[in-house]
Amino acid sequence: MGIDLKGEVTQKRDQNVNEYINKVLSLIEKDSITEEDAKWITEETVEGFREHVNPGFLSYRKTVTKDGQFAAVEWSDNGSCFKDVNGKEYIDCLGGFGIYNVGHRNPKVVKAVTDQLKRQALHSQDLLDPLRAMLAKILGEITPGDLKYAFFTNSGTESVEAALKLAKMYSERTTFISTTRSFHGKSLGSLSGTAKGMFRKPFLPLIPGFRHVPFGDIDMMRKTFETCSLVGEDVAAVILEPIQGEGGIILPPENYLKQVRELCDKFGALLIFDEVQTGMGRTGKMFAADLYDVVPDILCLAKAFGGGVMPAGAIVAKEDVFKSWFSNPFMHTTTFGGNPLACAAAIATISVLLEEKLPERAEEVGEYFLKELKDAAKGHEEKVLEIRGQGLMIGIEFHQDEIGYEVSKGMFDRGILVAGTLINSKTIRIEPALTIRYEEVDTVVRSFKEVLSQVKA
Ligand SMILES: *Cc1c(COP(=O)(O)O)cnc(C)c1O
Repeated sequence: MGIDLKGEVTQKRDQNVNEYINKVLSLIEKDSITEEDAKWITEETVEGFREHVNPGFLSYRKTVTKDGQFAAVEWSDNGSCFKDVNGKEYIDCLGGFGIYNVGHRNPKVVKAVTDQLKRQALHSQDLLDPLRAMLAKILGEITPGDLKYAFFTNSGTESVEAALKLAKMYSERTTFISTTRSFHGKSLGSLSGTAKGMFRKPFLPLIPGFRHVPFGDIDMMRKTFETCSLVGEDVAAVILEPIQGEGGIILPPENYLKQVRELCDKFGALLIFDEVQTGMGRTGKMFAADLYDVVPDILCLAKAFGGGVMPAGAIVAKEDVFKSWFSNPFMHTTTFGGNPLACAAAIATISVLLEEKLPERAEEVGEYFLKELKDAAKGHEEKVLEIRGQGLMIGIEFHQDEIGYEVSKGMFDRGILVAGTLINSKTIRIEPALTIRYEEVDTVVRSFKEVLSQVKA
């Protein structure tokens, strides 16, 4: 009897879940939604975050907007913009932390992915999958110097993990030098490289052998190399972002990266460039390595690599280094890394970047954007400390966190999404699509100027 009752309860539950699922699937299917749909989506989203995702997001995310809407819930995107469920459009200057280099849902990327999807989504894991070979060849061509072999991942964190493991296997050493204010991910391995104490402390000790030196300080880097060598803890690799993203858009001092390269060569260590954020045209060249004319031994990619359509990442390494994995390619593997959909997205993304000369465009539009922002900030020196950047990777640093929060809130109300950086909350980042139109840049600058004059120092 009890068992029967339980069966009935389970049946009823499954029926309810199915009804709910059908409602959600019908919304996904719709070209456009009604006001009533929008209301339902908003309520379900807020409720779902509160009860089942993490209520912490509700106090942090844009929960109450200026127009008195209960919450800003995104629903669609295109070009340099996305729209919330109520149809309000936002110019996206956060760019998903830099994933939309070729714009939101670039037609060429969407086409390649849907074409591939019609034939095969994921690979057998056993036969040879063609797109991985082709993408690896393309990467060998477009990456600097003699970078040649690629391993594909699903995220930046995974790219960093792969790079660290490859460096360990190649060098048979265990010491790594990372830099302060760096961000390399939050898995236990990549977090060892990440700099922010708040993110690391609860998880200590992380993987042994990591040392951090101030970014940009070549003397400290040299002394650390020397000390490590003296105490018999030879350095496997230096890992750094050529331009720090989450650290607050920090550019390297002149010649710094070249000097780091020289130190690595002198001490037999590898140089890993984490270009997860700077890669794929963001800084005005295809890779920041090109910008500074320094060839790393391992290059980490992700974020914009999948064209803002698929999650995709990669490392590209020199043959001499990568060959540590030749004899046993199963030393480091991933089920989904390099899957056909992700490869199709990355190949189309590289095509768009090259054909539309988007790195060059990032340089040109970035220069204009930076100049206009600096002009707009004139007379607000008590609020704005510095505006800096390279290509379309721009940071606005304020004297206090609160000013940064107020400015990004004010701009959000005016339909522009900007946000702070993870490691340095005094700095907001401007990382729009590299396809952003000049009129859109002007709109962003105008609202920055308006908001700046309204917030209090
Ligand atoms: C975002 C980022 C990562 C982590 O990438 P995920 O895809 O979020 O795992 C690593 N390194 C840098 C430089 C990044 O900006």
